Amino acid sequence: MSRKKIIAGNWKMNVKPSETAALVKGVAEATAAAAGRVDVVCCTPAIDVPAAVAAAAGTGVEIGAENCHWEDHGAFTGEISTGMLLDAGAKYVIVGHSERRQYFGETDETVNRRARAAIAAGLTAIVCIGETLEERDAGRLQEVIRRQVNVGLKDVSAADCARLVIAYEPVWAIGTGRTATPDQAQEAHALIRSTLAALVGAETAETVRIQYGGSMKPGNAADLLAKKDIDGGLIGGASLKAADFAGIVAAAAV
Ligand code: PEP
Repeated sequence: MSRKKIIAGNWKMNVKPSETAALVKGVAEATAAAAGRVDVVCCTPAIDVPAAVAAAAGTGVEIGAENCHWEDHGAFTGEISTGMLLDAGAKYVIVGHSERRQYFGETDETVNRRARAAIAAGLTAIVCIGETLEERDAGRLQEVIRRQVNVGLKDVSAADCARLVIAYEPVWAIGTGRTATPDQAQEAHALIRSTLAALVGAETAETVRIQYGGSMKPGNAADLLAKKDIDGGLIGGASLKAADFAGIVAAAAV
């Protein structure tokens, strides 16, 4: 089955509101040739979302956020609800990034709550999973991936999968310059898809896009994206330079 590729930038905590329009417009211009053939998304700090949405208007670029809470509103100081993100014009939200798991106590259970809230609200959730180097070296890759999919996507229905993207991000490859080989990534993606198939059915699992993330760059994107189950990329460092990001989008557009 052919799945439209999706390249999403994760700006992390890097771009100020006053710098946002220039980067979004730069991305839109540099990726214009791929418009319609590849889904191009910039996931920005929540405070940048309104400026990013305004700058992306009329272009092929869509805007997402980097996290959301599971409640609609209430006494949750410092949190951002899915309704707030939608109201600001976001279409996507990253959930369960390894930096949230590592530094902010995110668990598979809270990832599940956030993902279900995002999908129920009408956002597309980009749910991140991936093993640490210790887990890989200990031969626990399969166990960790299966647990993260089974718990993180618990009670996500086949219908919900229309608004689900999964990002496989081996923690050891994020921001390290060390990339999983295309074969290592494909092995994990195939495992994710078969684990998902047991939850929502094989036919639906075939429709869900699985991105690779971890030091993806213009120079290595084509080999990764050529693999059967690699349907795009979640891009950290290289999303902060329009030309680099566009190089990855171009590799996805072939
Ligand atoms: C990420 O943080 O999602 C990521 C993949 O980062 P980088 O591309 O910098 O490794």
